[in-house]
Amino acid sequence: MVVVGDEDGHIGVGIGKAKQIRVAIEKAIMNAKLNIIPVRRGCGSWECSCNEPHSVPIKVSGKSGSVEVILIPAPKGVGLVAGEVAKVVLRMAGIKDVWTRTIGETRTTLNFVKATYEALKNTYKFKHPKDWS
Ligand SMILES: [Zn+2]
Repeated sequence: MVVVGDEDGHIGVGIGKAKQIRVAIEKAIMNAKLNIIPVRRGCGSWECSCNEPHSVPIKVSGKSGSVEVILIPAPKGVGLVAGEVAKVVLRMAGIKDVWTRTIGETRTTLNFVKATYEALKNTYKFKHPKDWS
């Protein structure tokens, strides 16, 4: 499995299977490039009002298998408060400050990565402000 990103609002995750590792990686990269999604970034923390795209604009969550990842907007300077696996995905997507909460078995790397990816995907599914809780 590979994660591709430009550290500037785009992220893709791909899985490749082949008898040869080299071929598997090539397949995974190709697959990841096909799965690149835009990530909406912002400054969603009420403790910060810089309006720069350094965090997520709203609280978002993503699920994969038994793992759920919740991304919470954080003010500047907090950094990526996340598990090592999620950190890689968030960094590749260009997010610099975020708090995360995880539910489930995060040792399952594949689900952890996918759940983080799904959460980032949800940054483009804005709810109406009246639905916010
Ligand atoms: Zn800010």
